[in-house]
Amino acid sequence: MKNTGMSRKLDVLGRIVIPAEIRRSLDLKEGGVLDISLEEDRIVLTPRQDSCVFCGSTEELKEYGGRMVCSSCFAGLSKAASA
Ligand SMILES: [Zn+2]
Repeated sequence: MKNTGMSRKLDVLGRIVIPAEIRRSLDLKEGGVLDISLEEDRIVLTPRQDSCVFCGSTEELKEYGGRMVCSSCFAGLSKAASA
């Protein structure tokens, strides 16, 4: 674990701002989702990488109904729908 030497105060609602340089280096964008886990007394934030709901692929994703589907599963679904 790398110590960045940075610290932030919680605001009245319990929020913190993740420093811009960390957001940049991890390519975190507004609206991105961070999974929160506890490891002993540490809070661990892990950026969620979008992946296909069917096969887990992270390549060529399209959004449908709020879920991500890869192009090959999308093609399979289209074929199944027209059969
Ligand atoms: Zn897929």
